[in-house]
Amino acid sequence: MTRNNEGRTQIPPEVFEQFMKQQEEKFTSQQPQISQQPQNNNAGYHVPTDFVVLPSKGTFYSEGHPWHQKETVEVRYMTTREEDIITSPGLIQKGIVYDKLVESVCVDRIAANNILPGDKAAILINCRKNAYGDEYKFDSDCTVCGTPYTKKINLSELKNKEVDYQAFNITSNSTFVVQTPISKASVEFKLYDSQDEDFITKQVENRRRHNLPDDIVVNTHRRLIVSVNGDTSYPTITGFISSLLLKDSRFLQKAYVGVKPDVDLNYTHECVMCGHENEGGVPFGANFFWSDV
Ligand SMILES: [Zn+2]
Repeated sequence: MTRNNEGRTQIPPEVFEQFMKQQEEKFTSQQPQISQQPQNNNAGYHVPTDFVVLPSKGTFYSEGHPWHQKETVEVRYMTTREEDIITSPGLIQKGIVYDKLVESVCVDRIAANNILPGDKAAILINCRKNAYGDEYKFDSDCTVCGTPYTKKINLSELKNKEVDYQAFNITSNSTFVVQTPISKASVEFKLYDSQDEDFITKQVENRRRHNLPDDIVVNTHRRLIVSVNGDTSYPTITGFISSLLLKDSRFLQKAYVGVKPDVDLNYTHECVMCGHENEGGVPFGANFFWSDV
């Protein structure tokens, strides 16, 4: 869950500066190539497009949504307009760079807060690949011995998660119903959307600012559970959550993640020092569009 929040990290000034320097070098060294590329639509240039398979396959969008039952969507390659977005200090500060970028490249008119986070991730990966190359490097440390390592991946090799939705009882409201293993309660929950993620991230930030302990688990339950044993009332749901047994809580958290349409970002890396097989998620951090390419 936290992985997706990393995209909202502010970009440190030194990273931003480095990025600008790289861009300048690229421009001076490859000017002939760059100048042949279409810069905008207004002068009659055609901006090339690509197609992205949505992790959700359009399953969970309601009928009025442009992506209702749409498995594949068309996206434009990034141009100088998108470069302006990803370098805008105002957008960076507000943490909405990725949202604005997705809205800008999608051929369909969509609002970033109305699409599923996994679909957003698939589009961002495609943008990064087409604009700055397929190879993406990031740094991490061995969880056993602490030896730092640099992991290199090819973005084109990331696949969408395969979810067997047949195994779940999906309601007409695109919610899921599961039975908790211990309390045997019938719990209906909804999928995370971008607004839920924003809400939970903000709550966590607020509590940290006030030095309060994290309550991300309670918040997630409160945000995603729609009904308990068919009862949608707020007192019933909060009462259920406050007395939720650990095992049932874990079960529900697993269920949320399990059904979430997403790009599979898992990777493994064997430590050269101790041989430990590290497992992790490809970080979507601040350097996603700014790393050395
Ligand atoms: Zn190690």
